[in-house]
Amino acid sequence: MSQSQQQQKPIVTVLKCLKCGYTTERPFREGDFIPKIEGTCPQDGAPLFIWGIYAKSNQQQKNK
Ligand SMILES: [Zn+2]
Repeated sequence: MSQSQQQQKPIVTVLKCLKCGYTTERPFREGDFIPKIEGTCPQDGAPLFIWGIYAKSNQQQKNK
């Protein structure tokens, strides 16, 4: 198999406030893990948890 890694999918980290359910996304950074606490909710000041980490698919999806 010859795979090129020229097309890297961006990794996205999802942050969630457990108090009000607010969620936001940002680019994944090294050291991110679930359920790391990072930052505070802009709505109520409660801590934000890393809720999910996933690879975001581009518009280059192949139709099967
Ligand atoms: Zn909140």
